[in-house]
Amino acid sequence: MSILTLGIIGGGQLGSMLASAAKRINIKTVILCDDQDAPGQKFSDDFVCGNYDDEKKINEFVEKVDIVTFEFENIPFETLNKINKVKKVLPKPIINKIVQNRLFEKDFINSCNIKTTLYDSIKNDKDLKSKINFIPGIIKTCSFGYDGKGQHKINSIKELDEINLDYNQDYIIEKFIDLKKEISVILTRYGNQKFEIYEPIENNHEDQILKNSKIPAEINNEILEKSKNYAKIIADKLDHIGTLCVEYFIDKEDNLYVNEIAPRVHNSGHLTINSHNISQFENHIRAVCNLEKKKTKKISNAQMINLIGNEILTYRNKKYSDHEFFFDYFKKDIKPKRKMGHLTILKK
Ligand code: ADP
Ligand code: MG
Repeated sequence: MSILTLGIIGGGQLGSMLASAAKRINIKTVILCDDQDAPGQKFSDDFVCGNYDDEKKINEFVEKVDIVTFEFENIPFETLNKINKVKKVLPKPIINKIVQNRLFEKDFINSCNIKTTLYDSIKNDKDLKSKINFIPGIIKTCSFGYDGKGQHKINSIKELDEINLDYNQDYIIEKFIDLKKEISVILTRYGNQKFEIYEPIENNHEDQILKNSKIPAEINNEILEKSKNYAKIIADKLDHIGTLCVEYFIDKEDNLYVNEIAPRVHNSGHLTINSHNISQFENHIRAVCNLEKKKTKKISNAQMINLIGNEILTYRNKKYSDHEFFFDYFKKDIKPKRKMGHLTILKK
């Protein structure tokens, strides 16, 4: 019999993988998603389809569960706050409010004495035109961006002059970094200062979308220790419960900058399903459900390849050896730049 029922907001691939991990440790799951074709419902015990501000649907969902978590950040803060008054939401809603806005997020990271890229806010054309010092730079919407959506690279004053921004939204401009590498650190915080932390993961992006990830990351020991330490500082300061990912940039001089924080399970941690005794998903569920923390150990080095758009078609028909693990997200439609599945290869 299940010990308790976990509500998951969002029914994409992360919700699916959370629900599968929950099943293995006897936790029932109910997914709330605004997409009636959400793949997560194939993996959860129950499914409620509704918008994230539909009070009736949210109440229906809340009544079915003991505790609530989420697979993505862009849930209205008001919704999480309301739910939290009835059933505990973990991580805490306020954490989401910080990371939903790139400006608040970067201000927060700097308040921990941890470096980000140089950034500034843009609210109008006057702000925009004054940002010459940030060239080459990237303009990003403060909210709702993912996989490079809402981003514009600015290479020259001419491009800064010519860009047309819709000021119904706020933006930031960030100095462009000549990247040597990108890494991420995933940890799970169980409260009372106890962590399970995975080793840094090396990430390779194409078109601003994560293409592959691998462990071990090829980085020096100082960056390895620093990146793990910063992630712990951030999680502690947020009083985060559950899995959290910190994405980093490393420049050509080996400076380490935090790029962004995801207060949730993360694409770069998919390889932990096969490379570790306990995945980022199981750790997340254990932490938010207040279960016993178990020592997380690496079983194997690994590489993960994201299958984007049409790529999924060839992979669906391939044969795999016993150290290759193919995951199909069962999304209804294939679209360019959409993450459709992934392959993890265990390595010596
Ligand atoms: P998203 O929320 O879409 O993931 P990110 O800010 O993480 O947005 O940007 C996506 C990717 O674009 C990064 O992983 C990195 O490869 C590239 N990128 C973003 N900002 C910068 C920057 N300031 N300098 C260099 N590359 C960047
Ligand atoms: Mg990112």
